[in-house]
Amino acid sequence: MSLVINSKGQGMTSDRTRSRMVEKLREEGIKNESVLSALKTIPRHMFVDEALNTRSYEMVSLPIGYGQTISHPFIVARLCEHVLSENTLFRVLEIGSGCGYQAAILSQLAKQVFSIERNLNLLNSARIRLKKMGFRNIILRHGDGYQGYEANSPYDAIVVTAAAEFVPTALINQLKSGGVLVMPVGVDNQQLVKIIKTEAGIEKKSFERVNFVPMLSGLI
Ligand code: SAH
Repeated sequence: MSLVINSKGQGMTSDRTRSRMVEKLREEGIKNESVLSALKTIPRHMFVDEALNTRSYEMVSLPIGYGQTISHPFIVARLCEHVLSENTLFRVLEIGSGCGYQAAILSQLAKQVFSIERNLNLLNSARIRLKKMGFRNIILRHGDGYQGYEANSPYDAIVVTAAAEFVPTALINQLKSGGVLVMPVGVDNQQLVKIIKTEAGIEKKSFERVNFVPMLSGLI
């Protein structure tokens, strides 16, 4: 999906600064060109508070309010690589919209992105931001990600951006056969876990250690 965003930044928020971030991602092992191109296209500085603008292309997670964070660019890219490697993506479900950055990246890689957020304030500001920026293939919903979003299931891919102690059954149920789910699992020691659903059953693989905010039940 192509997108025209008025993202003219200067200095620390310029296209050149964003290109440098993408080069760093490449050096650190991100290989998928579509993923790198999505991170090159989407202006990360427009997803954080103006006071943090100059830090928005550093390889760090940053606060977005309510004790939540915009994920580290490397992690955003890794999550995308995990779900892209096996599939052409039509429908993707994200759990934990936050500021909407990961959803914006996914919108460049899939036909339609559904994203669920439990915090109504974060959801509303992400909705306003994404609308202003002109994204038309992202649907945000206020909900508890432990339930997924059955209405538009099954999904080719599910990306969870908050850590749970286990993979929620509802999410596995809402995955297409051949679909991929990726999420951080664990409390103190979190690990990226990938579930591949096949006709024969569920295949589970574990990857690198990660550090996400916790996935919490219930709406606020
Ligand atoms: N993908 C986001 C990362 C946000 S941090 C981004 O790109 O900015 C994780 C988000 O998950 C937080 O906004 C938090 O409120 C949300 N969250 C935590 N538990 C949740 C749940 N059960 N359902 C939906 N969202 C949840």
